[in-house]
Amino acid sequence: MEKPKESERILKAVELARKAHEGQFRKTGEPYIVHPMAVKKILEEWGMDEDTIIAGVLHDTVEDTSVTLDDIRKEFGESVAFLVDGVTKLSTARAGMRDIDTYLPETKDNFLRLLIALGADIRVLIIKLADRLHNIRTLSALPPDKQKKIAKETLEVFAPLADRLNMGQLRVEMSDLAFKYVDPKRYDYLKNLIEEHNRQAAKSLKKIEGEISEALKKEKIKFELSGRVKSIYSLHKKMAKHNQNINEIYDLTALRIIVEDVTTCYLVLGVIHSLYTPMEGRVKDYIAMPKQNGYQSIHTTVITEDKRVVEFQIRTREMHEYAERGLAASFYYNEQKVTENYKAGKIEHLPTNLLWITELQQTAAKLREGKKVDLEKLKLNLFADKIFVYTPKGDIVDLPKGSLPLDFAYRLHSEIGDHVVGVKINGKMSNLNKKLEQGDIVEILTSKNQTPKSSWLSKIFTSHARAKLLHRLNEKEHQEQGKKK
Ligand code: MN
Repeated sequence: MEKPKESERILKAVELARKAHEGQFRKTGEPYIVHPMAVKKILEEWGMDEDTIIAGVLHDTVEDTSVTLDDIRKEFGESVAFLVDGVTKLSTARAGMRDIDTYLPETKDNFLRLLIALGADIRVLIIKLADRLHNIRTLSALPPDKQKKIAKETLEVFAPLADRLNMGQLRVEMSDLAFKYVDPKRYDYLKNLIEEHNRQAAKSLKKIEGEISEALKKEKIKFELSGRVKSIYSLHKKMAKHNQNINEIYDLTALRIIVEDVTTCYLVLGVIHSLYTPMEGRVKDYIAMPKQNGYQSIHTTVITEDKRVVEFQIRTREMHEYAERGLAASFYYNEQKVTENYKAGKIEHLPTNLLWITELQQTAAKLREGKKVDLEKLKLNLFADKIFVYTPKGDIVDLPKGSLPLDFAYRLHSEIGDHVVGVKINGKMSNLNKKLEQGDIVEILTSKNQTPKSSWLSKIFTSHARAKLLHRLNEKEHQEQGKKK
């Protein structure tokens, strides 16, 4: 990838960040500016657009220095300011959490906040991932308890998110780095196990590579052949699934074949199956049926003459690029379009199969524009126990599954909750017993004269709303007793 000349705007941002972070140091002892510069470099490697790179350079200024959001808006425009604000809000939300035991559930809530923020602009999330990648790369400088906390959060929140965005390379690097801190013994054990296995397999792997290459050349197929390294963390998870029996892990040895087009992928599959015996039920066609994150490849596991189990992954160059860099790759290929679309206020910039994001964004955008929304349900399996509903203005609110209109109202504001007289769901009058569903547009009708009722307690699902209502009912009771006296 050719490196574009550094733009004036980027240089200006670097200058501003340098001045702002002057005198601040990282735990590693380096000047603080090293961190935003590293984030900048990561974003450049991912091929992100200029605004994202600038926001990456400035991502810690509003929180940690005297630079304000207004300064950034004036100097770099609305889009950069929005991105910096998004990243700042995410880290502020996490700042109050110190107790390691209560930490994870809370970060999962953050994760949701994250998702809602990216309903407006997914680039916020990409900056956050770059920020986390550099922090986990330099984690050794922190005290052990912090290391564990950040590593755990990386494993449970950020690596799955990278996977969700099909950023394979990032997922592997993040999760292996983090796993090393979370469970160092296990990490070393599995690392040795893989290395030992690779030593043993090396000779026959060479032989297989030779056989395959020859057969493909005979068919006049242009290809690239490489071994793929299994991530230690994914081995850890697989071992748990298979009772720690390494002999049941079939993709320890894997070869990747990259070809020019889809037809050739199937041709290669045929060649492999004519050379070796495929294992039953192990042929997976993710080209015809991509994974939910957009991943495409054909996988097949075969048994060789000398009884080796080898997995093959066959894909086109484009699919490979996408499997490694995911969402970032599609930004790179569509940068022009992305920038234009943002300028035009359009959201449809994801040419990928990331339906869950696209749908979320499109629905929010349509609502903001006052358009009618066809109520296709959003697919957000990652948050199976959560639903996302919308205000008529298009703001997204996340609630636990089973929530009712009053939960929604109290989530918006207790002033709204206290004065509910009715609810419209998807434009139709409904009632307070109606369970909210994924993608519903909920409009709360209020009246000044309404006061909280104890009968509402049976029409509430979340503890948050219940606590608020009880508090109000108590207040009311005291007031009435006061009047009687
Ligand atoms: Mn940072």
